[in-house]
Amino acid sequence: MKQRMQRFMAGRYGADQLGQLYLGVSMVLLVVSLFSRWNIFYAFALALMGYEYYRMLSRQVEKRYQENQKFLNWRYQMAVKRNRRKEEFKQRKIYRFYQCPSCRQKVRVPKGKGKICITCPKCKAEFIKKS
Ligand SMILES: [Zn+2]
Repeated sequence: MKQRMQRFMAGRYGADQLGQLYLGVSMVLLVVSLFSRWNIFYAFALALMGYEYYRMLSRQVEKRYQENQKFLNWRYQMAVKRNRRKEEFKQRKIYRFYQCPSCRQKVRVPKGKGKICITCPKCKAEFIKKS
């Protein structure tokens, strides 16, 4: 039985982090559907689960791998942004954070200096803000 399963899965993609997320979300939707009168949650949970099984059994390993990589990159970017926000929040009493109007670079300036002219360290554009 185990051998047959192994033979069946040979050359197929299998589980990954994106798949775990899909299965997790569909489990949540199933639980929600228990308490909801709308069948849409149930239908969506089944569809998502079906899609993930399709991914696991897929023979297009490279394509599935790329999907997962995209997801992992996105998750990493989210973590980076979250950490940056945390850092800004910690420093909010001493610094102010502005975004350069021309290149969107984040600029940190000391707080409480009145109106100041800020020079962007990246593109050298100048803009005036209250600090
Ligand atoms: Zn700039």
